[in-house]
Amino acid sequence: MARTPKIYNATLKEPAESVEFHLETGELKQYDVYQEVGTAKHLVRCDICGLFLPLKGRSAILLQQHRGKGECQKIVKRNSKPKPGLFIPTTFPPEN
Ligand SMILES: [Zn+2]
Repeated sequence: MARTPKIYNATLKEPAESVEFHLETGELKQYDVYQEVGTAKHLVRCDICGLFLPLKGRSAILLQQHRGKGECQKIVKRNSKPKPGLFIPTTFPPEN
């Protein structure tokens, strides 16, 4: 069964804050801290697919479990699909 990721409504935390996480590659990456609208829940945004993930106890675990994995790739694939009805031809026939 595929889980549907929770879509958070979040804004950048005020005052601005960021956290640094080590990626699987060993690279240290900085993430802005977001806050869920209406709650005090802190979130970080996946830099690959843009999904908000809970910032559990300032730990990178949820992001590490998600980043570049199945769910993340699925979102990227879905977002990169051309949307029907938005096709704009690059060349127009000349108008007379
Ligand atoms: Zn992702």
